[in-house]
Amino acid sequence: MLLDGPVKSRTDRTPPPLHRRRNPIIEKREFYIDGAWVPAAAPRDLEVIDPATEEPCAVIALGAEADTNKAVAAAGRAFGPWSQAAPEALIALVERILEHYNARAEEMARAVSLEIGAPIELARTRQVVAGSWHIKNFLRAAKGFAFERPLGDHAPTDRILLEPVGVCGLITPWNWSMNQVTLKVIPALLTGCTMVLKPSEIAPLSALLFAEIVHAAGAPKGVFNLVNGDGAGVGTQLSGHPDIDMISFTGSTRAGIAVSKNAANTLKRAHLELGGKGANIIFADADDKAVKRGTIHCFTNTGQSCNAPTRMLVQRSVYDQAVAIARDVARATRVGPPAEEGQHIGPVVSQLQFDKVQGLIQKGIDEGAKLLAGGLGRPDGMNRGYYVRPTVFADVNNAMTIAREEIFGPVLSIIPFETEAEAIAIANDTPYGLTNYVQSQDDATRVRVARQLRSGMVEMNGQPRGAGSPFGGMKASGHGREGGVWGLEDFLEVKAVSGWAAT
Ligand code: NAD
Repeated sequence: MLLDGPVKSRTDRTPPPLHRRRNPIIEKREFYIDGAWVPAAAPRDLEVIDPATEEPCAVIALGAEADTNKAVAAAGRAFGPWSQAAPEALIALVERILEHYNARAEEMARAVSLEIGAPIELARTRQVVAGSWHIKNFLRAAKGFAFERPLGDHAPTDRILLEPVGVCGLITPWNWSMNQVTLKVIPALLTGCTMVLKPSEIAPLSALLFAEIVHAAGAPKGVFNLVNGDGAGVGTQLSGHPDIDMISFTGSTRAGIAVSKNAANTLKRAHLELGGKGANIIFADADDKAVKRGTIHCFTNTGQSCNAPTRMLVQRSVYDQAVAIARDVARATRVGPPAEEGQHIGPVVSQLQFDKVQGLIQKGIDEGAKLLAGGLGRPDGMNRGYYVRPTVFADVNNAMTIAREEIFGPVLSIIPFETEAEAIAIANDTPYGLTNYVQSQDDATRVRVARQLRSGMVEMNGQPRGAGSPFGGMKASGHGREGGVWGLEDFLEVKAVSGWAAT
């Protein structure tokens, strides 16, 4: 056996660096720029941590300004021809992307499951399917979309042209990666924009696979580019870049504010999809599955959804019953490894997130909320991985920290109310305004309440929003609208032309 030096005993051997402990580790240090995979301008590695083991599972490179500039320049060169391409060509590319995406669905599910710890079944049936669902909905919207419109019969030679906004910077979070990536990349492609995508550095593997899919589908050079990086680096470079016309950002409210401020220096448009603290108003006449449904929804994706119904508002006459149901649902919620088949919840995404959730559970206890299920620490028998106990607090009031802050973990807060007016006031008393929920079997009640809720979306009686429905918020939840026709419009400029040829 040939060795470089003396053989060491097992005990005196220094442990290998963390990134070598797992074999094989995925190495993805290249960026997709101008139609090719290229090395980072300067080596700066980041380990991607598997939340189930707390060990590195992959290593990526973090981009530098030179990488960002190269990608923006490629997108700039590609904009002319792509913006002038016939809508049929744009649609044909997206149809090919859908085919390749579906063909690699299992691979995508495994990437999502590894990088964020999503249970494999959830990754397959929800996370990955969200992407194909949006692609199909955008195709439908684009096929019927009028990019050129008359102003009206009173002005026969006026035309309104809806034109691509230009080179776009797309910044996405880790929690529903393919949902977010397709909600930005696909409408940008279909409207004739070119782009640089910076996915979350915490969960870059699915986005890298998505770039392979776009390449395999035959996207022209420079139309779609991907540079990995963090918020302080590539994220900030994109939002401040003079050659980027629009930033479409999804992430925390904190980062959304930073993006807006930085984008203002070059007067670029910034579309923001931010956090949430949804209320789920359960009236006394709600159907008998409403509490169970709401609790499960809150815990889905381990509570890591911007639109999670985290504040359950329950009418006093059914309060004790509801509290008991929610407690039992939480106790029956299985927590398990992402690779295990079946319905359970996995770990939260990172040590940072784990510590934040623990801190907020402690706050709930300290501020006097009644802990009904779960609580601090990992579930019994688990001593590794960022696993959190499914937690329910009752007797919460809306001034408590757990009712005000986005927790991003499996933690439900139950708040009692007496009257409809009080429920609406509590629901609206939050900086956020993304999705609120209403449960009542009375049509008039639901309609009345939906009209008064200050949020971009209201979902009632467990009925999901339809295909192509716009996703977005108000107030601190941002102001972009993604999905369907509204999602296309986000990437378009309106040009008014007079003296058009009379028809
Ligand atoms: P985050 O804000 O930490 O990061 C999101 C993305 O922004 C990442 O790619 C990150 O690198 C980048 N980023 C961070 N700081 C930046 C800066 N100063 N400038 C430019 N880019 C920056 O959020 P996260 O932890 O990845 O995701 C969770 C958050 O996203 C939650 O608040 C959640 O509610 C929100 N979210 C909102 C929606 C929605 O549609 N409203 C959907 C999903 C997630």
